[in-house]
Amino acid sequence: MMKYDISNQAKLPTRFGDFLTISFREYLADSTIKEHLVVFTQNLSKTPLVRIHSECLTGDVFGSQKCDCGNELALAMEKIAQSEEGGMLIYLRQEGRGIGLFNKINAYALQDMGYDTVEANQKLGFEGDMRSYEIVGEIFKHFNITEINLLTNNPRKIHALEPYAKVVRHSIITPCNPHNKAYLEVKKQKLGHLL
Ligand SMILES: [Zn+2]
Repeated sequence: MMKYDISNQAKLPTRFGDFLTISFREYLADSTIKEHLVVFTQNLSKTPLVRIHSECLTGDVFGSQKCDCGNELALAMEKIAQSEEGGMLIYLRQEGRGIGLFNKINAYALQDMGYDTVEANQKLGFEGDMRSYEIVGEIFKHFNITEINLLTNNPRKIHALEPYAKVVRHSIITPCNPHNKAYLEVKKQKLGHLL
């Protein structure tokens, strides 16, 4: 059984448009807490456009070009703001594919030495992708959502969400740059992303 609290709902005007927001505070088995954020449009339909974004501090906030997270986040917010069926961005606080910020920076240091993203995580003793999407099921329940248009290139994510909602995939393509070209290539080759 998952333990979590749901905050009150508040307005969140952004540079992409006007949204509403609510936070889910998840209590984990190891007694740590994760505070997730759901940002959604007023006109939420029965089959909204959904983006599940896992926190990436370096990409989302600092505009890192080692990955495509910051661009994907902005593009998803744009698409959701403009979608006729309404939509939501679920921001999950699982940094660095679930290994945390500190470990992610150690993985970056290994990447500087020539390891790819998957190899670097493995060298630190983590699996390639440690993310969990269990709380998403609870978020869908809260909003009475059973069917979604999911913005993703990640088949693993589609698979992970299938127990919670009927999923129709929409691709999200951001431009690559010299720094994230190798990263995107690993995503495609090792993690099966549809790029
Ligand atoms: Zn990132």
